[in-house]
Amino acid sequence: MYKSVETILVDIPTIRPHKLSVTTMQTQTLVLIKIITEDGIVGWGEATTIGGLNYGEESPESVKANIDTYFKPLLLSIKAPLNVAQTLKLIRKSINGNRFAKCAIQTALLEIQAKRLNVPVSELLGGRIRDRLPVLWTLASGDTDKDIAEAKKMIELKRHNTFKLKIGSNPLQHDVDHVIAIKKALGPEISVRVDVNRAWSELECVKGIQQLQDGGIDLIEQPCAIENTDALARLTARFDVDIMADEVLTGPDSAYRIAKKSGADVFAVKVEQSGGLIEACEVAKIARLAGISLYGGTMLEGPVGSIASAHAFSTFETLEFGTELFGPLLLTQSILKTPLQYENFELVVPNTPGLGIEVDEDKLEQLRRH
Ligand SMILES: [Mg+2]
Repeated sequence: MYKSVETILVDIPTIRPHKLSVTTMQTQTLVLIKIITEDGIVGWGEATTIGGLNYGEESPESVKANIDTYFKPLLLSIKAPLNVAQTLKLIRKSINGNRFAKCAIQTALLEIQAKRLNVPVSELLGGRIRDRLPVLWTLASGDTDKDIAEAKKMIELKRHNTFKLKIGSNPLQHDVDHVIAIKKALGPEISVRVDVNRAWSELECVKGIQQLQDGGIDLIEQPCAIENTDALARLTARFDVDIMADEVLTGPDSAYRIAKKSGADVFAVKVEQSGGLIEACEVAKIARLAGISLYGGTMLEGPVGSIASAHAFSTFETLEFGTELFGPLLLTQSILKTPLQYENFELVVPNTPGLGIEVDEDKLEQLRRH
């Protein structure tokens, strides 16, 4: 069935420091997985994380160790011809947790199957509804004037016309003033949102969100602690401005629990956090049934994970808040033979078999960690 399973770590500097409430990133480590079948079909997947262990529970090194030690021998031991669903079931039965690794492997398996059937991965996920996805840009230099200049340049280039600000590392009033100054400079036509990355207490949330709502900000992402889902629900009920669940969403089970208590207005769906492309589509279905709006999130993956996410998001019935699939644009180097196509404020979802990308293996060889 499978001839080889390889995990590759690739360190690529970012185009500028990317400042989050939990860390400042200068480099992104891509975790790529390459699976080759005995009949020579290649599938790629990605299990990249944000900011090492600052953001989440998995690091690039832990993902690689777990894939190499547990997932790889399991996949190589398969002798009977299992389909993707049967293979995923075997993995779930043998390995707990490890959503990022599971997502990368599922992506590679889906790409292999899609190539075999000569269809894009989106068609294995129920079929795409759209060929292009709106992509916002995150302003995270931490400097108000720099952020305004960066936003204006993006609008002029027709790259992005919606912006998200990463806040929460400075005192609350400083951050709120910074956001409102940027919103004022960009004007009423441009959507400005914030991601607090869980930095505020519930009391700070009440104070901060009120001012952001009055200042015309239209989305507040994960303002408080992951564990405090009750506070997120109270804030959702209290404010008119939309409150989005991000880090708190860890797959279909958590989506169901949050939806059940009206715990958010919007879900930031991430394929890796969900544990796979199929599970991300399940999160979207739960949201739709609960009347929760959708946004396509990112773990700042490179092109492999970003385009895998795009295939999943292209199948969503609705995508009210667009996506943030700008990860590859934050990197100083491309690992594809042809870079992803960003134009007119959107990302084009490829229509060719598999993920529709070609990894530049010579480039990867130069950049990979040895
Ligand atoms: Mg977020």
